[in-house]
Amino acid sequence: MGSRTPAPFWRTLNPGIHGCTPAHRGCEQCFMRSIGRRFGLWPADGSVTVDPVEQAVQRIRDLPHPRGNSRCLVTTAGDLFHEAIPAIWIHRCIEAMADRADVEWYIFTKRPERYYAVLDLFKRFRRWPPNVHACCSVCDQETADRMIPHLLVMPSPVLVVEPMIGAVDVLYAAYTGAESVSAMGGISWVLAGPETGPGARPCDPAWAHDLARQCREAQVPLYWKGSDPTMPKETPHV
Ligand code: SF4
Repeated sequence: MGSRTPAPFWRTLNPGIHGCTPAHRGCEQCFMRSIGRRFGLWPADGSVTVDPVEQAVQRIRDLPHPRGNSRCLVTTAGDLFHEAIPAIWIHRCIEAMADRADVEWYIFTKRPERYYAVLDLFKRFRRWPPNVHACCSVCDQETADRMIPHLLVMPSPVLVVEPMIGAVDVLYAAYTGAESVSAMGGISWVLAGPETGPGARPCDPAWAHDLARQCREAQVPLYWKGSDPTMPKETPHV
């Protein structure tokens, strides 16, 4: 997902996705867009392609067995839920992840509106696997309002606020008007952090501390990336 730091994950795995396109303001500094094309990892024409699904499934099956931390982040170099990737391809990958119950899989996306197509396939064939975690990346209130309602349809959803380039009121974003929302609407974990690298857009510590307050009040663990002393403390063991 264009993020530089995979912590707190044991490792990352790209099952076979090549290329990506921006989904929202959070993508503006995507480091993979330049690196991926410069080193031939992404198609030069800006398209998004995937390897044959059997190859992708095999990569997932072949992941070494973890020791200790078993969290694997699914690709920092693309978006599994990109609109160019067929739902059945995504479904087969997630089925393979389900069969690797020794690994906790974390799938980051900026396209949570595609959850429904894949969820439909799981309703037909199998239950959503408990070791596969849907993680949705927002960066400010506009993206939070638009994307969090989709995230909340997933079991034990994980909210990612990175790069944080604006304040985010999670309860406001989770409120649909249909009923009151408490405890962040069931979000199980929040990962957040500022933008990093050349040209990084600023993150106001007040936004970060307000997000930390919301997490404390809802008793939802927060993992804050980075060691800036003006920001919330990193919580490495959540
Ligand atoms: S979704 Fe992730 S990988 Fe794709 S352009 Fe945005 S930051 Fe980059």
